[in-house]
Amino acid sequence: METGLSDRVAIVAASSQGIGRAAAEGLAAEGCHLAMCARNPEALLAAAEEIRESSGVQILAEPFDVRDLAAVKQFVAKVANRFGRVDICVTNAGGPPSKSFLETTNEEWQSAVELNLLSTVYFAREVIPHMQRRHWGRIVTITSISSKQPIADLVLSNAVRTGVAGLVKSLANEFGKDGILVNNVGPGYTATERLKSLAEARAKAVGKTAQELFDGWAADAPLKRVGEAREVADAIVWLASERASYITGQTILVDGGLYKGL
Ligand code: NAD
Repeated sequence: METGLSDRVAIVAASSQGIGRAAAEGLAAEGCHLAMCARNPEALLAAAEEIRESSGVQILAEPFDVRDLAAVKQFVAKVANRFGRVDICVTNAGGPPSKSFLETTNEEWQSAVELNLLSTVYFAREVIPHMQRRHWGRIVTITSISSKQPIADLVLSNAVRTGVAGLVKSLANEFGKDGILVNNVGPGYTATERLKSLAEARAKAVGKTAQELFDGWAADAPLKRVGEAREVADAIVWLASERASYITGQTILVDGGLYKGL
């Protein structure tokens, strides 16, 4: 299948590991030049080097925190300056902590909004004018199955991700006329460092082992296993490609069938 991604320029946020890194690898495998960021410089530069070696694409990698508006602005300007265009932007960040409602503090609410909603706003605001100029663009947000189906003890994610889904629909409505397609990908349980640390934190609270929690998550999904980061990345690459040219404003879950609704 011809994806039409060769020589496009893609920003992939929070891409030193996990789903972000898998998305960067998937886009590079299709010939996209990359702009990667994450907080940890060593992990980010190592990931960028490995992807450069395996794919041969050009990569700009800059360590910064996606909650830092000034850093996002500078980064997008640098990408546009270096490559002359910004075609694709995959927004991503870490996830908020696992908490029930009465355990959460105001600081944690503020932090979750900054991490998962405002960081998406910052990237969208900076990349859209570049996409408008070429009348072509793809924004793909990475959220969670919680944007459609709340998860127990993840109230911060459950509440804040729906804001991203609302933003995605609004941007899709407003910028479709400019050839900019905006979609949201919601992973279900996916084997990454994030899932391991969630399992360890939850295991202590509920008196189970992390392995028992993994087994339970796998059993809940009709496919009877947790997902791989590469499987989420495949949906992101498809949404960024020419093959998804009439799809916008959607939330696509990559969850092994875990979502219970129609
Ligand atoms: P991960 O912890 O493996 O990777 C997170 C990446 O984000 C890392 O590269 C890290 O350096 C970077 N990062 C974190 N905070 C950042 C910040 N403030 N600024 C810049 N970079 C930052 O996580 P993952 O499993 O790949 O998850 C990615 C997203 O998908 C998260 O929002 C997570 O909550 C969500 N999600 C994950 C799962 C799952 O099962 N893994 C399920 C649903 C949703």
